[in-house]
Amino acid sequence: MMIVKPRIRGFLCTTAHPKGCAKYVLDQVNYVKSKPAINGTTKTLIVGCSMGYGLASRISAAFGCGANTIGVSFEKEPTPTKTASPGWYNNEAFGHFAREHGLLSPTINGDAFSDEVKQQVIDVIKEKLGTIDLLVYSLASPVRTHAKTGSVFRSFIKPIGQNLNSRTLQLDAINGNCVVREVQLPAATPSEIESTVAVMGGEDWQDWVATLASANVLSSGFKTVAYTYMGNELTWPIYRGGTIGRAKEHLDLTCQQLSAEYEPNIEPLIAVLKAVVTQASTAIPVVPLYFSILFKEMKKRGTHEDCTQQIHRLFDEQLYRADRRTDEAGRIRMDNFEMDEVVQRVVKENWHRVDSENVHELADVEGFRQDFLSLFGFERTDIDYDLEVDPTTAIQ
Ligand code: NAD
Repeated sequence: MMIVKPRIRGFLCTTAHPKGCAKYVLDQVNYVKSKPAINGTTKTLIVGCSMGYGLASRISAAFGCGANTIGVSFEKEPTPTKTASPGWYNNEAFGHFAREHGLLSPTINGDAFSDEVKQQVIDVIKEKLGTIDLLVYSLASPVRTHAKTGSVFRSFIKPIGQNLNSRTLQLDAINGNCVVREVQLPAATPSEIESTVAVMGGEDWQDWVATLASANVLSSGFKTVAYTYMGNELTWPIYRGGTIGRAKEHLDLTCQQLSAEYEPNIEPLIAVLKAVVTQASTAIPVVPLYFSILFKEMKKRGTHEDCTQQIHRLFDEQLYRADRRTDEAGRIRMDNFEMDEVVQRVVKENWHRVDSENVHELADVEGFRQDFLSLFGFERTDIDYDLEVDPTTAIQ
């Protein structure tokens, strides 16, 4: 038993609260259960199932559509004296709530890029579900060991073509103190761009589809969706115009290749999602400042959504409808409230005005801070963080 408090460096938290994570999952489950049932997937594979948009997808599939789900994620296990990574507790909690609901929910904890994990998933599909009708590809990884060549690729977050001078939010997540500070990022080298595309581009998604298809575990009418982000001119140099954006362009291209190869038997889709606080997004410089300015405006207008609200809406109003809201490239646009003209105008104005003095007035720093801590099971009013907990299980 131990007392678990947040241990934070920048936007990294090296501890997670088991009970807090379980309650975080339960909140999302209850949100989805409070909505009308969705006529959609019944047997779903989620790659990147433990956190952020992948977890929200698993919860929407299971508790929105009534699906049996298989999840894949790469999470650190606990020991009697060390907490697990939050995704490990989330998986355990999800499994518990899914079982209570009468749903199958096997989870494989391992490297999704590897052939071994793909084979394990196929074995589990054959044994438990027979086939799957939806693959959600929601990986966000800093590194990939290539299954065929053994080469190790890293994902870089850098601008392309020129160095970037911008601003970001430096936040002390414990006490809420923050400053707006300058950031300088050097332009990526060609090999850094290539490496990022190898990690966050579409090659592994394509591998998953090809491996599952050749194992004959896809139902007729099978769909697969991968997630992307677009953003605006403020985030463009570090996101869409940078190394990550290059990887996301590759994801778009992969979607077209999958269509050419497999349609009409398989429907590949890309969904452009809104900005939300996750482990992956807070690692991107500039983003914390842009996100917190954006959240302030979206909350003011009542259009802000968290991961679960956004993905539930994707499943409910887009994935299983013929009349989807798509852009010129055929991507499903779930970022419609974020990209609203008025929201974007206000965000740009506030971005140019914001400094360390007025940041609490122009940006939702407190909301950002709470979202960040809640990813690790902290900052909840229904948990007494001075009490000891068992770090080896979320359900206690
Ligand atoms: P996240 O950090 O919350 O979750 C990442 C998931 O990937 C976790 O489940 C983790 O265990 C898993 N993972 C990482 N490496 C793995 C590996 N080698 N093997 C197996 N699992 C592994 O990330 P997120 O922000 O939810 O991002 C998911 C997707 O959504 C990404 O494609 C991201 O670009 C996209 N997206 C995110 C945002 C945002 O604002 N967060 C916006 C739009 C799109």
